[in-house]
Amino acid sequence: MNIHEYQAKALLRGFGAPVSDGRVVLRAEDAKTAAGEMDGPLWVVKAQIHAGGRGKGSFLEPEAGEKGGVRLARSVSEAAEFARQMLGRTLVTEQTGPAGKVVNRIYIEDGSDIARELYLALLIDRSTSRISFVASTEGGMSIEDVAHATPEKILTFSVDPASGLSDFHGRRIAFSLGLTGNSVKQCVALVKTLYKAFVEKDMDMLEINPLIVTPAGDLKCLDSKMSFDGNALYRHPDVAALRDETEEDPKELAASKFDLNYIALDGEIGCMVNGAGLAMATMDIIKLYGAEPANFLDVGGGATKEKVTEAFKIITSDPKVKGILVNIFGGIMRCDVIAEGVLAAVKEVGLKVPLVVRLEGTNVELGKEIIRNSGLDVIAGDNLSDAAQKIVKAVKG
Ligand code: GDP
Ligand code: MG
Repeated sequence: MNIHEYQAKALLRGFGAPVSDGRVVLRAEDAKTAAGEMDGPLWVVKAQIHAGGRGKGSFLEPEAGEKGGVRLARSVSEAAEFARQMLGRTLVTEQTGPAGKVVNRIYIEDGSDIARELYLALLIDRSTSRISFVASTEGGMSIEDVAHATPEKILTFSVDPASGLSDFHGRRIAFSLGLTGNSVKQCVALVKTLYKAFVEKDMDMLEINPLIVTPAGDLKCLDSKMSFDGNALYRHPDVAALRDETEEDPKELAASKFDLNYIALDGEIGCMVNGAGLAMATMDIIKLYGAEPANFLDVGGGATKEKVTEAFKIITSDPKVKGILVNIFGGIMRCDVIAEGVLAAVKEVGLKVPLVVRLEGTNVELGKEIIRNSGLDVIAGDNLSDAAQKIVKAVKG
């Protein structure tokens, strides 16, 4: 789960990390008061969306001004004006996709003077099963670009959980960033703070970009992206409360309410499958026969008719879906339950695209009979390969 920059900064502040003073603003009429609570002479007005690259982004609406989603203001009234321009508009950045994201919240921050912009991140390294640090002197730009153009400017190492984090790690980062004197001490402290926050809050990723050095040599976290392990949210109600559902794919949101494992993808063939492994294989074989899956969906083992109905409705609500492949290998899951779920959903929302159903396993004959007797225009698939070829043919001709 991702959270907004202002929420991440509040959390970091709670752990003692250096961040600027700031106020979140939801309504344009509150912007002036919020900005007035800081002394200036510089205010930063920042669109809050779950995507990076805001500074270089642009708005779909010309009334929103031309200068992107992070703007420097020289007066309270200018800050309020920027907030007014951005609220409710759609910001497109490298990370939002062409549709962009609507800005519903603005963060007005006390502006900082910058001597250097650095990069620091923590993440879970799945290959070593450890927490890794990533540091670079090239802050303020995307780390992917740095990795591509100048990989030698990136330091990365993981921390052995048995011996834990020590000052040595912080110094290693400080020296790779070219810090000296008091900045080194601040870096060692910051690295400890970030590590502690990361572990205590079960984060997946914590990125500070840029981490700045002020002209006085102080470190400050100027931007923060934070994401949390969804499976650990149950033990962090304070973090779960930060969830902003308007930032999430509505289909994924609906799926999570019904405890379905659903991930929206960009292709044209909707998939309803039971079992994560079979769902992966189904996506692979769709690609093998020349099409792209529109989603990953594992309805799970003990799904009820209602759950299957919801799953099917979520798939059909996606305008990108030009055909649907239901691929069930019934073990615990019963084929007749799947068939009834599909029928119930079609009754409710109709069926406007070709549907291929491949059923195998528990109660398969009953399941096939239910579909046959339904009078629905369903194409039967004999096996995984046959079903995949049939749906690709139906969609692509
Ligand atoms: P992003 O574009 O979504 O990554 O948003 P950031 O918060 O990283 O801001 C983008 C850029 O705006 C930073 O790299 C800085 O160069 C600039 N910026 C952000 N805050 C300040 C500030 O307080 N003072 C100054 N001078 N520049 C800032
Ligand atoms: Mg940034």
